[in-house]
Amino acid sequence: MAPREIKVQCCVCGRIKTAGGWKQADDCEHTTRSHGYCPQCYQRAMTQVMNWKAVRRANHV
Ligand SMILES: [Zn+2]
Repeated sequence: MAPREIKVQCCVCGRIKTAGGWKQADDCEHTTRSHGYCPQCYQRAMTQVMNWKAVRRANHV
């Protein structure tokens, strides 16, 4: 039995972080997955948060 590996899977696009970068998930893999964001989706999520904050601030004034 191979030691159980924990891989980070992007919760937005579903790609998995590998040694060679972010790759499309292989559903045959029996690995423990930890959900997170890949760099692209992280950037997009951050942009959305910033926009949301800007809108909120604008509405308060
Ligand atoms: Zn992603």
